[in-house]
Amino acid sequence: MAAEQSLVSELIDEQADSLRSNSENWHTRLLPGSVTLLSMLVFVIAAPFAKMPLPQVPAFIPVYESTLILNDLITSVLLFGQCVIARSRALGALASGYLYTSAIALLHMLSFPGLFSPTGLLNAGPQSTAWIYMFWHAGFPLFVIAYTLLKDGEQARMMDNAFGARRLMFIIGAVLFLAAGMAFLATAGERLLPEIMQSNHYTPTMRWVAGSTWGLCLLALAVLYRQKSRSMIDLWLMVVLCVWICDVALSVVFNGGRYDLGFYAGRFYGMCAASFVLLLLLVENTFLHSRLAAALDELKRLATIDPLTGVANRRAFDAALTAHWQRAVHDRSTLSLLMIDIDFFKHFNDRYGHVEGDRCLVLVAECLARTVRRGSDLVARYGGEEFVVLLPETDAASAAHVAQRMCDAVAALVIPNDGSPHMSNVTISVGVASRIIETGTEMTDLTKAADHALYLAKAAGRGRVEKAALIAYKSS
Ligand code: GH3
Ligand code: MG
Ligand code: MG
Repeated sequence: MAAEQSLVSELIDEQADSLRSNSENWHTRLLPGSVTLLSMLVFVIAAPFAKMPLPQVPAFIPVYESTLILNDLITSVLLFGQCVIARSRALGALASGYLYTSAIALLHMLSFPGLFSPTGLLNAGPQSTAWIYMFWHAGFPLFVIAYTLLKDGEQARMMDNAFGARRLMFIIGAVLFLAAGMAFLATAGERLLPEIMQSNHYTPTMRWVAGSTWGLCLLALAVLYRQKSRSMIDLWLMVVLCVWICDVALSVVFNGGRYDLGFYAGRFYGMCAASFVLLLLLVENTFLHSRLAAALDELKRLATIDPLTGVANRRAFDAALTAHWQRAVHDRSTLSLLMIDIDFFKHFNDRYGHVEGDRCLVLVAECLARTVRRGSDLVARYGGEEFVVLLPETDAASAAHVAQRMCDAVAALVIPNDGSPHMSNVTISVGVASRIIETGTEMTDLTKAADHALYLAKAAGRGRVEKAALIAYKSS
């Protein structure tokens, strides 16, 4: 049981740690590093042409926004799941960041002129969509900063119940309220905000606003970078922020307005950025599932095996007995059971100690397991120094033969037991019982009969085999 528990807790730790622990080595940095370099390269190539006007593709904005909304929402759900499992406030902050971007991207889409109505929904003015975009891009780095700072202060494992359903609902509500509030400010309070757009073009004020957003991205990048140890998620967040810097630069600073090369390229960067952490989480989940399946197999194995001797345990025996009993009744076949007890084992323990006693149990169990020949035969530890052997489709005579072979095999091990008043080596006594076809007996009668036969073997002097009186199985 201890082994099973430690396996489960190891798995939980592994899951929590896989996202949070230090993952920095050259091969984990290779992919994020390459993606960052590639996006910088594309940025350097695209920036001089950012003002080049391109055709207005009506499908582009809905596709871009839908991708972002869904990707960020799924990322947020996965991260909230991780935050609950790992009891991590930091992951909660990051999940909130993705929920915020998903919600505000939805509002951005609704307000975008020409999509749902010529001037956009939500009573949007000419500045509204641009301001929502800025609030969106300035908000995310703030959540990343909160994530990093919380992660810094977080112990290896938060043991308090930090994320009950109520707290989770509160956080989700607060984030959605914040996104709605920012959109409200950008629409209803549009006139209070500085002018950043004139018709389809940005004003010089936009550079200041975009510069502040840039500054926040750089600050978040620096905060992530200065951590002592960075996890995989941190590395990919750094990539996301680099890509966001390119996004803001291309689509707000270097370009001239909507539907030029910078605008499209920036949005394309945005779509990539929204996919990185999601892909990481999906890959992590796939690995986790395969580890979970392997751990489950191991748990099943541990649940059916006696940890000391390695043969089947009582639970496995009970299950096998039930299954074979039902089959024997259905097929009208015989089923035999051997009940085995080591003779004078108390003496053995007293004479050689419990450690040697355990070793003796292992040797006897291995010997019994070696002696059965058919795959369907089952040797199990019944308890203490008692074993049972289930022999499906085996009649009483054959079962007695197997039992005698076992007695001889254990005697041939020549394990000294000079504590025994009668014999100088370890021996076993075996009780044999068989179910006979068409008897109408209960399953427990078989165990009782084998037990009774064992008692007879002990009474007759030990180190021998006794068969249960078959009369006990006659149909009533
Ligand atoms: P008998 O021939 O009548 O069977 O005599 P016995 O001394 O073997 O009597 P019994 O079957 O009642 O003895 C059971 C002893 O087996 C008691 C306990 O000391 C020992 N035992 C049970 N489980 C373990 C175990 O896991 N390890 C060790 N070392 N000893 C065990
Ligand atoms: Mg016993
Ligand atoms: Mg005994």
